[in-house]
Amino acid sequence: MLIERMHPILASIMVCPCCGAVLKIETEKCSCSRDACKAQFPIRNEQPILINEKNSLFDIDDFQPGKDAFHRSKFMKLLAAAAPRLGLNVKAAENYRKLHDLLLSQNERPICLVIGCGEAGKGIQELVNDPHIDIINTDVNLGENVHIVADGHDLPFKNESFDAVIAQAVLEHVAEPNRVVQEIYRVLKSGGLVYAETPFMQQIHMGAYDFTRFTLLGHRRLFRHFSSIELGACCGPGMALAWAYAYFLMSFAPNKKFRKLLFNFARVTAFWLKYFDYFLTHTPCGLDAASGCYFLGRKSSEILDDRDLIALYPGWQ
Ligand SMILES: [Zn+2]
Repeated sequence: MLIERMHPILASIMVCPCCGAVLKIETEKCSCSRDACKAQFPIRNEQPILINEKNSLFDIDDFQPGKDAFHRSKFMKLLAAAAPRLGLNVKAAENYRKLHDLLLSQNERPICLVIGCGEAGKGIQELVNDPHIDIINTDVNLGENVHIVADGHDLPFKNESFDAVIAQAVLEHVAEPNRVVQEIYRVLKSGGLVYAETPFMQQIHMGAYDFTRFTLLGHRRLFRHFSSIELGACCGPGMALAWAYAYFLMSFAPNKKFRKLLFNFARVTAFWLKYFDYFLTHTPCGLDAASGCYFLGRKSSEILDDRDLIALYPGWQ
């Protein structure tokens, strides 16, 4: 890979994910410039694989062109597109519009990092379509829109590189969410923005790569080094109920094929539940049963106190 063909910003902000030193970028690999480290990272499909194997669930050799850990067949993709969905994100589009406006009010040419860009997040087109915003996409696969294969536990970027970081439906899939949020904090410029969406009431998805759920306040606490601009539910109790119903049915499945059949039956019979979420994500008790929550915040030098945190509880318990 020639350095001229890379995203123009990348060469100036990429660092070694193992030690943080400057990387020497060559045609087929990146090499750490620190003598004590000397780590090497291949470039495949013109995508640098900047993984610190010591801290990651993934090995560098997991990333080979044509081999994708989360590959779905064309038939499954088609089926997924055709059947009505059980999920509905009622806030993402509005939240991304807000993030977009905040970003451009802070910087004429903001740089935004997306962690886990693989399946483009709901509503993110607002940012992607704006030529004034530079987007750096990272993920743990070689997807076609991925600039760098990187693990959120060790972001391969210099401190204070980005105006915003996005982690949409990502933090439930990382082994140590606290460490990933520390990394987000590190790579954000002073006053930089974060946008995260993370599930609360959702069953297992992405199989073995699913570890954690957060309540609204648990999610807020995860970002206690950030000041809050807005937080709430992005997916509500209707979606949570639809998922619970689908997973209840699938619990009876005797094999994988039958499981898929039951899932599609659930989609056809329960898709309508999600429409209640336009209303239920705003009710005090609805937040107690939400499928997922979001946090839009700003890097801060102050830490949210736990006593102030519990005062944020909006419910009636
Ligand atoms: Zn290094």
